[in-house]
Amino acid sequence: MYNSVKTRRRLIPGPRNVTVKMFVANTNVTLASLFSPTFVSFAVVKDMEAEKMELKLYNTMTQQKEVFTPINPGKVGLYVCGITAYDFSHIGHARAAVSFDVLYRYLKHLRYEVNFVRNFTDVDDKIIIRANENGEEPLELSNRFCEEYLVDMGALQCLLPTHQPRVSDHMDHIVEMIQKIIEKDCGYDVDGDVFFSVDKSPNYGKLSGQLLEHTRAGERVAVDSRKRNPADFALWKAAKPGEPSWESPWGRGRPGWHIECSAMSAHYLTPKFDIHGGGADLKFPHHENELAQTCAACEDGGVNYWLHNGHVTINNEKMAKSKKNFKTIREMTESYHPLALRHFLMSAHYRSPLSFSASQLDSSSEALYYVYQTLQDLNDALLPYREAMSEDSGKSEQTAEAKDIINKLKNALKFINASIGKLKKMQKKQRMSLLVSLVEIEKAAREVLDVLGLLTTLSYAEILKEMKQKTLTRAGLSEEDISQKIEERIMARKNKEFEKSDQIRAELTVKGIALMDIGKETVWRPCFPLQANSSD
Ligand SMILES: [Zn+2]
Repeated sequence: MYNSVKTRRRLIPGPRNVTVKMFVANTNVTLASLFSPTFVSFAVVKDMEAEKMELKLYNTMTQQKEVFTPINPGKVGLYVCGITAYDFSHIGHARAAVSFDVLYRYLKHLRYEVNFVRNFTDVDDKIIIRANENGEEPLELSNRFCEEYLVDMGALQCLLPTHQPRVSDHMDHIVEMIQKIIEKDCGYDVDGDVFFSVDKSPNYGKLSGQLLEHTRAGERVAVDSRKRNPADFALWKAAKPGEPSWESPWGRGRPGWHIECSAMSAHYLTPKFDIHGGGADLKFPHHENELAQTCAACEDGGVNYWLHNGHVTINNEKMAKSKKNFKTIREMTESYHPLALRHFLMSAHYRSPLSFSASQLDSSSEALYYVYQTLQDLNDALLPYREAMSEDSGKSEQTAEAKDIINKLKNALKFINASIGKLKKMQKKQRMSLLVSLVEIEKAAREVLDVLGLLTTLSYAEILKEMKQKTLTRAGLSEEDISQKIEERIMARKNKEFEKSDQIRAELTVKGIALMDIGKETVWRPCFPLQANSSD
């Protein structure tokens, strides 16, 4: 499509918002040209003296950053609360998934052996209500939406956890844990319902910073007079007509929400494990209750690092199913590339709120297109030399420039763009040195993209093609429509109707399509949709 490397480079404007720190391998890397604001999610500092990697995590429990030390050297137990499967997941769910996927990828990158468990809640009030509305079996409905969630996770390049347990498959473990809690006198059974006694939990409220007096869950609704303390919560709920139920020592029923995560984390990891993650809204009551249960059932139970991701907001409100202000992952990926959505979800620090808007997604699309176009150009530029390089590999010293740039990936893409044009003009020896540098830089860039989950099995060209297709979808245009506009513009220019030709171009720019005149040819690429007089 393009004439030459030289002209093609003109198609790649720098991205708009650019500052992000990402830490990779044993080098502090600033990949500013890729990512907007601050994605220092999980910062790693290299201890130059000790040659030892140090991962620091912000722990909700202690409210500070702490050096990560696993319970078992080289191994990590990671549990993240998954979704309640009764509908398509929205981008708030996607943010939690992507945040902890980056942590998972990063721990693996640091060569930890990670046992990553993410549950599915498939027994719950919301599921039962929705299933009744649909006239369908609750487990059928939840199974369907577990599958849909996995489709979304695949699109967003989230790696599969080691285990994805479902509540309905773990009733024995749940019942067993409730029995232990009762044996320790931390739970009591009333008419087939079992409650957890918060008064028996000395540290209750420590994780979420809630005072027990303020945690009277019953105050907003009528307090169940059978509870010893209004803040006591259900471990087991007696069966009601028309609801799914399981056998238990307290009669047929189903588990309360919180107990599943205590039982499944203890089963797949150990009662005490390294990292527990989830959305900030889960701190209370879910995680507070989960911790109280685990510690009540198992003396040595607990979590060393509690991590919570921030909300996605829309018009300054938390995006939530209950507020009906949500956008589903499925809906968003119809018009935006899933990798652009992933990029957007990583565009703020993972603990900060992330404000959703179409223009944020447009910015992410633009930044990502720039990354892949640059890498594609590099691939094209290296192609004629690949063979020669394999013959000469090892003969050339890596330039100091290369090392420096790997240390500062911030400039990597700029460097690639600046170098591509020079390649052909260089003497062989000089060129070999630059080629080695470029190959190293590409490797480093791919490593960063891989940790961020922004690499796929597709080629750069295929990703670019997909991104262009999404641009056309958003613009409501086809490739033919654009060809026609290009023709009209050529005619207008031939007839010296420059106002008309400018207007055609401006109309397309508003729709996120930039026309580029390369020699005698006009081509297009996606751009940030700009109003003609916008100062943005
Ligand atoms: Zn949970």
